[in-house]
Amino acid sequence: MKIMGNKAVFIDRDGTINVNVEYLDNPDDFQMYPGVAEGIKVLRDNGFKVIVVTNQSGIARGYFTEKILEGIHQKMRKELMKKGADVDGIYYCPHHPNDNCDCRKPNTGLIEKAVEDLDIDLQRSYMIGDRMLDVEAGYRMGLKTVLIPENWEKVRDEMKMSPVKPDYICDSFYKGVKWIIYIDKKKVSYF
Ligand SMILES: [Mg+2]
Ligand SMILES: [Zn+2]
Repeated sequence: MKIMGNKAVFIDRDGTINVNVEYLDNPDDFQMYPGVAEGIKVLRDNGFKVIVVTNQSGIARGYFTEKILEGIHQKMRKELMKKGADVDGIYYCPHHPNDNCDCRKPNTGLIEKAVEDLDIDLQRSYMIGDRMLDVEAGYRMGLKTVLIPENWEKVRDEMKMSPVKPDYICDSFYKGVKWIIYIDKKKVSYF
């Protein structure tokens, strides 16, 4: 009998964890949203692995290097640690949209890699993001999905075009976390 894997929450970075800056290329410009560190701490205290999955085509475009990206992620982790939080993994797609890779969201390569590395039980896991491409990636993997639009106007259009729907929509990271904890604790499936 297979022993159950870890439950996880996959989280988009730009526009979800931090204020979206087009091609963020400097740790000094990394600005975390209120409630994110607190929410991530709650998730981990409740036994979830927390995994960042992020499209970073700025690397393929030559706008910044992987070393700079690493610096941004160090800053992110430092800010999380100040509040007793951290992440269990960071997976990024460095490719250009035209590269047709399998890891640029809404493709699922990043999530698949993390599932393998961290022994994730998809049935008990979730995806949080600010765009429909996050929801679509999560949906394809069978995750329950939380949409927290940063730009409602843009996301409304995306939702009209998309064949899938998020399981929950809200306006702050912390509310999304509270929903996940509520559903997780019920231990019955509404889906
Ligand atoms: Mg985003
Ligand atoms: Zn990729």
